[in-house]
Amino acid sequence: MEKRWRVLVTINIPEIGVEILKKYCQVEVNPKEMKLSKEEIMDRLHDKQALCCGIEDIIDGKVMDSGPDLKVITNYAVGYDNIDIEAATERGILVTNTPEVLTEAVAEMAWCLLLCVARRAVEADSFVRAGRFKGSGPRFFLGTGIGSKTLGIIGAGRIGTAVVKESIGFDLEILYYDPVKNEKLEKMGAKKVELDYLLRHSDFVSLHVPLTGETTHLIGERELDLMKKTAYLINTSRGRVINEAALVEALEKKQIAGAALDVYENEPRITRELLGMRNVVLTPHIGSATRETRGKMSIMVAEDCIAALKGERPPRLLNPKALA
Ligand code: NAD
Repeated sequence: MEKRWRVLVTINIPEIGVEILKKYCQVEVNPKEMKLSKEEIMDRLHDKQALCCGIEDIIDGKVMDSGPDLKVITNYAVGYDNIDIEAATERGILVTNTPEVLTEAVAEMAWCLLLCVARRAVEADSFVRAGRFKGSGPRFFLGTGIGSKTLGIIGAGRIGTAVVKESIGFDLEILYYDPVKNEKLEKMGAKKVELDYLLRHSDFVSLHVPLTGETTHLIGERELDLMKKTAYLINTSRGRVINEAALVEALEKKQIAGAALDVYENEPRITRELLGMRNVVLTPHIGSATRETRGKMSIMVAEDCIAALKGERPPRLLNPKALA
């Protein structure tokens, strides 16, 4: 079969997706471990019909215009704040993402961060590795218990709901803040509340909103000030949802007990002060990074890409207006 379509894959996705793409397309995969610069993407797009990109690739109208034959952009992520959807729609370019398959993995990561920061696991691990474990005592590495506390979920969509599902056994009171009522959560006993109420009453606040104009700096000085001094903030959504400078200040002033972050305001750059704080756990945006999930994401982007190129409606289409 003649492979008439050309696709640029900017990130090193699992081979299974590349193999699917190769059945139909000539595939150019970014050979570097590092991300491609905007100019490099634009340079490579001139003869491509499809682009498979990651969240570090900022795909705006200018980038789209460098690929005059571009028909589809498949984002290897569920969040798509890196793509100008309006610009794509205006140009008739279809955009897809990878929802559902990463929900459990990201929820698990939120729990991993919550448990690590509350029980000081990372700090304790460094202590042992430094050869400082010479015996323990009654006040040794005291942490915060999780059972029977209050968990506040901000953004109760797929991942927020999964975090609550995975909380069974901890016997937590669940509060959530979301413009949309979540019947599934309500059946599980969760209470829909206003943001300020959630911040005032939660022992753990976990963020699961998409990054939009409205959610940018949703958590800033005022919101951190409302939180309990004993509370922890967990972020596996997007870095810019938190005003990182305000967070550093709140941590320095001990307005909250700690934070655990998978995402950062100016990723991959991290505010220097955070690196020196013992009550902070930091991971490098690995929310969906399980072998199982990443394989499924790879298949999804490949299938959506091929469907679009064949003139079919891709299952995870984000901008149906582009079809018109
Ligand atoms: P989703 O669309 O199912 O859920 C998002 C929820 O946020 C929805 O219920 C929505 O109503 C709510 N929401 C929107 N605006 C809000 C606001 N202003 N205030 C309160 N709630 C608001 O999305 P999802 O699949 O659960 O993913 C959520 C986000 O998680 C993604 O957009 C992405 O940015 C992030 N994410 C991060 C990783 C990671 O590796 N750390 C991986 C996957 C997803």
